[in-house]
Parts: sequence; structure tokens; C-alpha cells
Amino acid sequence: MDTKVTVKGYAKINLGLDVIGKLENGYHLLRSVMQQIDLYDTIELSRLAEAVVIKNVLPAAVTDNGMRITLTSDSDAVPLDQNNLAYKAAKLLLEHDSISEGVNIHIIKKIPVAAGLAGGSTDAAAVLTGMNELFGLGHSKDELQELGVRLGADVPFCIMGGTALAEGIGEKLTPIQTMPEMYIVIAKPLIGVSTKYVYENLRLEQVTHPDTEQILAAMQGKDLREMTGLLGNVLESVTIEKYPLIRELKDAMLETGAVGSLMSGSGPTVFGIFDTMEKASEAEIQMRRKYPQVFIQAAGIIC
Ligand code: ATP
Repeated sequence: MDTKVTVKGYAKINLGLDVIGKLENGYHLLRSVMQQIDLYDTIELSRLAEAVVIKNVLPAAVTDNGMRITLTSDSDAVPLDQNNLAYKAAKLLLEHDSISEGVNIHIIKKIPVAAGLAGGSTDAAAVLTGMNELFGLGHSKDELQELGVRLGADVPFCIMGGTALAEGIGEKLTPIQTMPEMYIVIAKPLIGVSTKYVYENLRLEQVTHPDTEQILAAMQGKDLREMTGLLGNVLESVTIEKYPLIRELKDAMLETGAVGSLMSGSGPTVFGIFDTMEKASEAEIQMRRKYPQVFIQAAGIIC
């Protein structure tokens, strides 16, 4: 058994995000085309008995006597307590597998927080995947995904990775194997958006639903222009209404050469899609110049 495991937790964007209904328990039924991008948090896991002292980080904020989980991060933007999704994931797996040993979690945060990029979900997914290896648990990806959905709708996809159609509350995943070549630039303004607020204010009868089948067909045909013409996210109706800067950033992406642009998840992150890496790199420079207060980053996609 390893004593230390390091896992990358990749961010995601939604190339299409449709909400098609609501369950009685409050969960929303989704049809979402999810894509991992090459922007990631690094999660370092070690068994508690083998703990190393990590310098220059916030003090370990959580030591739950029963479960013995410690949590540190280089970022002060994430909660270092029981509300952290990485902590919740560790607790879930320790309990599920009746593990008596503890675990240290250290998060090196690169994904902007409360951005619509599944930052918390991907950390949780990385903890489940990493602990599976660290403790030699032998769970399949499917088993980890079944556990992961208890933590959040995006967690199963973050475990699976790559590109997928997510349905149900996010647990029904169909991998997408074929897609056009593309490069991404993300822009995350200094606004934190509450996913809860966005879903609570969504008026399903008033939104234009993206044509998910057509998006999938365009991806299958590797037709980037067709695909980007079909992009759609019903949650834009709520978030853009509140933060008009998001529309401005979408327009700016198109002005800098993007073939398409959309808000990711519940926002506020906007992404532009480019057909070459050179155009994406140039757009990154121009967007940084124009919006010095906005976090701008070019990224490839994870296939
Ligand atoms: P999604 O796209 O899945 O809706 P998001 O990108 O909008 O997620 P997160 O970055 O996951 O949002 O942050 C949402 C909230 O979760 C924040 O308020 C943050 O305090 C909390 N949170 C808990 N654990 C984490 C974590 N490990 N990383 C980031 N945020 C976390």
C-alpha cells in the first residue's frame, strides 16, 4: 500500500446545460454536455500514520476524533472545515469502508472558487479516487461514482473525466468519444455565484432550451462551427440578469476570435472556444489586457 498519493482534480465546463425538470426532493433533472479542461487542483493524500509536516500552509483546521481527517490548503478561499467537499468525501469513504486509519488532505488550489467550474466537486472526486488507491480499496469507477453522487451532482462526472453527457441528477453518464479539436479560454470575474440562488430563481417555463441532441451530433461529426452555434445554458437566464458583466465577457470572447462563447454551470465563469491554440493564447493576452480584474486562463481540453 502507498503511504502518499497525489491526484489531479480537473475543472469542467458545460458545452450544453439544460434543466428538464425538478424532483420532489428539490433535485433538478439535467441534460448536460460536460467537458474537462486542463486546469486543475492538486490533492495530496497521506495516511495519517505517515503524516508529513507541510510548511507554509494554513494550519490543519479539522481533526475529527472519530474519523481523524486533517485538511490544509494553500488557499484561503476554501473552507478548512467539515463543509469542504474534500473533507466530506474522505469521511464518506472512511465510514463506507470502515477504515480505522485516518487521512491527511492537502489541496493546492488553482481552480477559481464558486465559479461554475466544479472546483469543490473535482476535489471530492480526487479524494475518492486517491483514497481508493491509498488504502487499496479496490473500488471500480462505477462504485466510486455511486458514492460520489451523494456529495454533489458533478462528482460522478469528475470521477469519470473526459467528455460526457450527464443526465438524471448528474449520475447517468454517457461518455462522448468523438469531438472536434478545440481550445478554451476561461474568464472568471470577481463575483462568487451561489448555485443554490441560481436554481431557486430559474423559471423553466421562460427559458430557451439548448438542443442537446444536435450538440451531440455536431460533436460526433467533429463540426466545431456547428457545435458552437448550438451552445446553450439555461442558467444564463438567471446569472446574466444579475451580473450583466457576464454578457460583456461573452461578447469580448467573440471579439477576440472565439468561434463560440458560453457561461459555465451556474456561472459566473465565461468560456470562449477557439479553433487553434495560437488564437486561444492571443485571446488570453488580449482579455487579460482588457479585463485586468478578471481571472483569465487558456486551457486545453482533457479527452
Ligand atoms: P459547481 O460548478 O459544481 O456548481 P462551483 O465551481 O460553482 O461548483 P465551487 O468552487 O465548488 O463552485 O464552490 C462552491 C462552494 O463550495 C463555495 O462556496 C465553497 O466555499 C464550497 N467548497 C467546499 N469545498 C470546496 C473545495 N474543496 N473547493 C472549492 N470550494 C469548496
